Amino acid sequence: MSSSGLEAAQNMTCILSGESGAPKQIHSRTLRDEDSGRFSVAECAFCGHAQITPLPSEEEEAAYYAADMQPKALWKNGEQYEAMRERSGMDTDRRLAWLESEMPREKCRSVLDVGSGYGFFVKRLIEEGYNARGLEVSTDRLELARADVGDVFFENMVDKDFVTQHEGEFDAVTSFHVIEHLRDPIAYLAQILRLVAPGGKLLVEVPNLTDEIMYYIPNYGNHLWQIGHLNYFDQAHLETALRKAGAKDVTVSGVQRYGLRHLVTWTDRHGPDLGKKDPEGTNPLFERIEALYREDRITKGTCDTVIATVSVP
Ligand SMILES: [Zn+2]
Repeated sequence: MSSSGLEAAQNMTCILSGESGAPKQIHSRTLRDEDSGRFSVAECAFCGHAQITPLPSEEEEAAYYAADMQPKALWKNGEQYEAMRERSGMDTDRRLAWLESEMPREKCRSVLDVGSGYGFFVKRLIEEGYNARGLEVSTDRLELARADVGDVFFENMVDKDFVTQHEGEFDAVTSFHVIEHLRDPIAYLAQILRLVAPGGKLLVEVPNLTDEIMYYIPNYGNHLWQIGHLNYFDQAHLETALRKAGAKDVTVSGVQRYGLRHLVTWTDRHGPDLGKKDPEGTNPLFERIEALYREDRITKGTCDTVIATVSVP
């Protein structure tokens, strides 16, 4: 371990509690995409939140996102992007069903997806008749999203000006797999909460720290620890972040995004299956066992994803 890595292991400043001190435990001293040895994933001794420590500087963060543009550029050549779109289907179906279970359509006229990426969810909402907009900061992603869906995207960060201009404008605001990337998720959540109209909902989704596959297959853990993910939430800490952001009425639960095929790929190959267009497939022979598997992991809280719904008074 480098000296700064040692220092990080002895002292961390928690993103959620703001407390500084020795971590309770180190989850990993390595990241899959950063090999300086400077960074660890550690758990705060005060509140139990897991995060990268030390936090990368803003320059390091910018360099990471710039480097990350290379695979995105690849997706412009048709096939990869189509694969991404196809793989997104299982998420958009589930998220649409989630939104509809939270709000009847007649009460949900306008939806803003914050961190809308390639716009797959916004596209689906529009096809379903919603007045949907996306907010995205990546120009590469926006270019593809606009070509696919049309000009329904704000090219912006969530900042004070945007929030002032659009305060209370949306019946529902969604933000999927965004806050694990942020150095101040509480401030971000407080801002996007202000975009929700009275009586509306905020839907937030993140990867789950207590995903059991991580603990059985070390490579899977190594796959998840990454410099872009500054925070690693479980259900309790997602709820803490939302309450600190001012949310009062919060419901947190688990979802299992990936099914048995994904489990078998990881147990057999110790790596992800990037080739298949639809990683889950749909074989009716598996439907029942698949449902039992997902239900079991959700019940135990060891599923791969955490979701939260906030009701805004
Ligand atoms: Zn803490």
